[in-house]
Amino acid sequence: MSALDFTQTSTTRRTGDAERAQILADPGFGSHFTDFMAHARWTAEGGWETSEVLPYGPLQLSPAAAVLHYGQEIFEGLKAFRHADGSIWTFRPEVNAERLQRSARRLALPELPTEEFLASLRAVVAADEPWVPEATSEESLYLRPFMFASEEFLGVRASHTVDYYVIASPAGPYFPRGVQPLVVWITDEYARAGAGGTGAAKCGGNYASSLLGKREAAEHGADEVLFLDSETHTSIDELSGMNVFAVTRDGRLLTPALTGSILEGVTRASILRLAEDRGLGVSEQPLVMSEVLEQLASGEITEMFACGTAAVINPIGEFKAHGGTWTVGDGGSGETTLALRKELTDIQYGRIADRHGWLTRL
Ligand code: PMP
Repeated sequence: MSALDFTQTSTTRRTGDAERAQILADPGFGSHFTDFMAHARWTAEGGWETSEVLPYGPLQLSPAAAVLHYGQEIFEGLKAFRHADGSIWTFRPEVNAERLQRSARRLALPELPTEEFLASLRAVVAADEPWVPEATSEESLYLRPFMFASEEFLGVRASHTVDYYVIASPAGPYFPRGVQPLVVWITDEYARAGAGGTGAAKCGGNYASSLLGKREAAEHGADEVLFLDSETHTSIDELSGMNVFAVTRDGRLLTPALTGSILEGVTRASILRLAEDRGLGVSEQPLVMSEVLEQLASGEITEMFACGTAAVINPIGEFKAHGGTWTVGDGGSGETTLALRKELTDIQYGRIADRHGWLTRL
């Protein structure tokens, strides 16, 4: 049983049926928000106490709120999927709950128990049910839980007041061009995270530090930026918001081992499992960028892809860096990449059996 009940305080929608239908016809990613949001507050004295579902809208925050100065903030991202029978499901939410707890520990924020995390998702999806796209559309309702230091205090220490919210946003394809091979820029200037830092936590600061790299990528005509490890600048860490995989000619799947500076993706873990089920060899190991580029040129590596909740699995078609351009395979979408993508989305949308018990009904 959850101690937080997330009672809905108002049932008035801010969006009319016609406006919602228009948004759902072409939701894009991350720019439209639903009618409600879940909220809970933690204090050092009382622990998790208040919880409610509120109308979606601006927050009132002191200009001295610690998060605005010291960035004590974490978040999660997962999706609600509608199945053909109308039921609504989410994918491995307990793994996101545990990652939020790990992020909280790293950022000296309070841990939200898994049951309370699930209760907050259920509350938002119940209030915003009409916002979950139809099963036929391959769209979903993206859920964004986040937690931040809201105490009005400028001393540098962990906040004594913390607010947690869940907002929701209908989601179409993450990349405007849909599932098409990405062009990835390898930055030799910036790192995303370093040893002992916060790379394995899902905290806002990691994304702030990735933005200049993303801008550099865009200036070179690339869709995404690839960060190398900060210490030796030789091995692949990840993209700014996705993990990276390579597929070899002899059918093995390679991905960087978790070193502490890489986010432990739910999609990454699920792909490793699906690949094992298919009898593909999988290896979590350092992926040295120069060797990968050589293996792309020799045909030893035939496919590469990026993965994460928002984009699911997206082929990488080309790498660019100051030293040149490297095509992955024939520059198109590889067979193994597309097969894994299909299997994962088929599970998420309930089109094939959920043999690992990954789905939770909301
Ligand atoms: N790496 C980073 C830096 C990310 O932001 C994300 C998205 N959460 C991922 C990897 C992929 O994680 P997941 O599969 O859990 O979405």
